[in-house]
Amino acid sequence: MSLKYTPIDEVKAAHAELRKTFLAKKTLPLAFRRAQLLQIARLFQENNERLTAALTADLGRHKLEISLPEMGPIISGAVRAAESLEEWHKVEKPTVEEWRSSWDTSVYTVPKGVVLIIGPWNYPYVTTMLPLVGAMAAGCPCIVKPSEFNPHCAQLLAELFPKYLDQSAYRIVNGAAAETTALLDLKWDHIFFTGSGRVGRIIASAAVKHVTPLTLELGSKSPVYIDPSNTDIDLAAKRILWGKQQNSGQICVAPDYILVPRAQQDAVVAGFKKAYETFWPHPKGALDAKSEFGAILNPHHHSRLMDLLGRTKGDIVLGGKAEGTKRIEPTIVANIKLGDALMEEELFGPIIPIVPVDGLTEAIQIIRDRPVPLVIYVFTDSEETKQEFLESTQSGTLVLNDTFMQLGVHEMPFGGQGESGYGSYLGKHSFNTFVHRRSYINVPRSFEPFNAYRYPPYSEEAFQV
Ligand code: NAD
Repeated sequence: MSLKYTPIDEVKAAHAELRKTFLAKKTLPLAFRRAQLLQIARLFQENNERLTAALTADLGRHKLEISLPEMGPIISGAVRAAESLEEWHKVEKPTVEEWRSSWDTSVYTVPKGVVLIIGPWNYPYVTTMLPLVGAMAAGCPCIVKPSEFNPHCAQLLAELFPKYLDQSAYRIVNGAAAETTALLDLKWDHIFFTGSGRVGRIIASAAVKHVTPLTLELGSKSPVYIDPSNTDIDLAAKRILWGKQQNSGQICVAPDYILVPRAQQDAVVAGFKKAYETFWPHPKGALDAKSEFGAILNPHHHSRLMDLLGRTKGDIVLGGKAEGTKRIEPTIVANIKLGDALMEEELFGPIIPIVPVDGLTEAIQIIRDRPVPLVIYVFTDSEETKQEFLESTQSGTLVLNDTFMQLGVHEMPFGGQGESGYGSYLGKHSFNTFVHRRSYINVPRSFEPFNAYRYPPYSEEAFQV
């Protein structure tokens, strides 16, 4: 299916219309925001089947892997934001020094203005709609630019938006690099980008031109450390393989590589084999026709991953097979050295390299020598090891004893650090992204007697007061 790109001249016109809407204060009343947020929930509820079918057509993902991480969080996120508007907008009244107590000192949360959201292809709904929920709650008109690699999803969103949302405030612009570049030439009050580090750097350069605040949600190689003496290795392997096989490993928070003391590497491999057999008990395993295991986006990414597997010097101990240019079996590669092809870049596919290490100290050193990851996963019950990771490493999130589930905790900010990006979102944190905390100070006329000392001509006497 070919996606209908938005003509470039319409991009500029849409931006101008949104600015007009903002200046007319249309998105300011909480009642307007609440109604639009509930419309987002309605859009996803009433079109669940079509939206799911579009995502299956684009990514070959199983229904459960769509309803749990995409549909559910969008519907509940929009409803919870609608219910929380009053609370989120409470005016802060900081306690000031006694002598200023007659002043009005308030902090208002005001919308930043007209904002832009640019999304990736791997989770096309959640990575665009959850930021949109934050922008809407904040009172910001918004253009959403979905990835061109999800033609079915992007086309459907373009069709549904005008049916559910106020077109003068919320728009879909479809297209690829040229359309995004046209968007980036315009002045925005915030840009929220999710995607690769390569394009993230292009977005950051464009944002600098207008000093536009920016959120960058980027990818990374997220490491896993298994502490064998303080964990159930089989359970750890099961939870890691589950997190890795979602969307065929095409997840920003996928466990990318494993660090484990070398004496226990075989036990970890055995754990993966057991988990594999329970997940895909079919004659051809994950590649069986009956398997619910998902596809790789396109032949380009398929051959990128197969090329990495061809170049690795490690031992393929599980999987390794491919189905045409569509699926790649979940593959475990043991005895990986740090310079291996599988350690070059974010894998973004169903391959798990295992790097044997001497112990905790070496594992932490390896993590510290590499760019700051989006997540670090640690499997341990040792409080000392947990503390060591907290104090000696950096990452967007630190997750103990599970994978992937952190994305469901909307009470906590989700975002990267260092090369995995900056800024964060989910729940109230999405709202915070799109508001400016504006200090408001009124000094009453009745305060004037206290000001006498400050006016020229200055005198020592006045200063004494
Ligand atoms: P990408 O960077 O290739 O594309 C993202 C968006 O940028 C798309 O909408 C695309 O049209 C646009 N784009 C592409 N080239 C451009 C250019 N030259 N100028 C302007 N815009 C351009 O990313 P992707 O392949 O869609 O997504 C995969 C990446 O996203 C992975 O690295 C993954 O880890 C990351 N990701 C991160 C998160 C997170 O929350 N941190 C979530 C999902 C995906």
